[in-house]
Amino acid sequence: MGVQDPSLMRRALTYARPLGVRLAQHCEDELLAAGGSMNEGAVSSRLGLVGRPALAEELMVQRDIELVALTGGALHFMHLSTARRSSSSHKPAFEVCRSPSRSRRIT
Ligand SMILES: [Zn+2]
Repeated sequence: MGVQDPSLMRRALTYARPLGVRLAQHCEDELLAAGGSMNEGAVSSRLGLVGRPALAEELMVQRDIELVALTGGALHFMHLSTARRSSSSHKPAFEVCRSPSRSRRIT
């Protein structure tokens, strides 16, 4: 389970920065994904199973990109699995990753 509390993640990034430590995060909002046993989609629907929506990952990725920008900390997103994370709809956030001063902060 990833760090769900944004205040805790903000503090962790802030405290890790002067130590030169990169944090690793499993991005999934557990409240949004609650009760899901597989990815949400046509297959979960056909099987009658509760799915874990892609948005649960996307929201946390977006949140943590903003926290990295705020704190100057460094973060690695582990095993991202949704396609939308790299779509043009998220371009402003991902430009944070590409800016020269921050390009090494998010991996
Ligand atoms: Zn994980």
